[in-house]
Amino acid sequence: MRIINAISEVRETTSAQRRNGARVAFVPTMGNLHSGHLALVAKAREVADFVVVSIFVNPLQFGEGEDYAEYPRTQDEDCNALESAGADLLFIPAISQIYPKGPDRTTRVEVPELGDIFCGAHRPGHFAGVATVVCILFNIVGPDVAIFGRKDFQQVMIIRRMVGDLCLGVEILVVNTVREGDGLAKSSRNGYLSMEERATAPLLYRTLSATRERIIAGARDYSVLELSGMQSLSAGGFIPEYFNIRCARDLSLPGKEVAELVVLAAVQLGSTRLIDNTLATAPVNS
Ligand code: AMP
Repeated sequence: MRIINAISEVRETTSAQRRNGARVAFVPTMGNLHSGHLALVAKAREVADFVVVSIFVNPLQFGEGEDYAEYPRTQDEDCNALESAGADLLFIPAISQIYPKGPDRTTRVEVPELGDIFCGAHRPGHFAGVATVVCILFNIVGPDVAIFGRKDFQQVMIIRRMVGDLCLGVEILVVNTVREGDGLAKSSRNGYLSMEERATAPLLYRTLSATRERIIAGARDYSVLELSGMQSLSAGGFIPEYFNIRCARDLSLPGKEVAELVVLAAVQLGSTRLIDNTLATAPVNS
């Protein structure tokens, strides 16, 4: 695996690969890699000939008072894990390469509507930060296909919308959420949890799953299910930000017809913010 810091070298390498007929896959990350990230790399390996991974803790997607400074940086371990996972190129740019004029003076990519709800409402500017950096990274790497995790459900929708609207011509693939044995979605932020908080954390996925079961069993009063989800999370020790049931296709409000639904939630647990979601298909009304 080559580790490259310079944009020009990444461009040269991936262009040469494409000229030789290789299909290039790209997995953008913020590092502190766990088996969720590695599942994306495994998918990339499966669908492409040349696998590029980036590690970049993107200042533009963190709000004021968020965890940008504390975000775990574990470069040596990450390099070893990626080498074993079969990545071909690891791109680790400096902030000054991605944002030569500074993050605040860089052209932004805003995804209206989808970027303003749920996590976007609670973290103003977050998704513009994500879309901007992913667009810059796509322009550097020039991938045929990019792989994202379903854990960040809204993020994937936003990336897909951006790719479509801006004609970026990158195929987007999604990999299912990798979880701990007790259901907690793997996340770099789980390392912030105290022992007590770690014991509470699986209740987030248990609450999502219980809601999914009620939908599958035919419950149709989604606002009641949402309220009950919020109450369970509060009672369990979280401060819930949102708990919503939406159409998985476009995050619109579900109607009465059968639909592939997604239950999405974000909570605060102490000073840590956790998000998760689960898919659920509502049965046909008899
Ligand atoms: P991050 O490093 O948190 O920005 O995540 C980089 C990529 O890994 C994103 O596409 C995430 O959705 C994905 N990812 C993070 N956690 C998981 C997980 N538990 N399972 C699957 N994918 C994940």
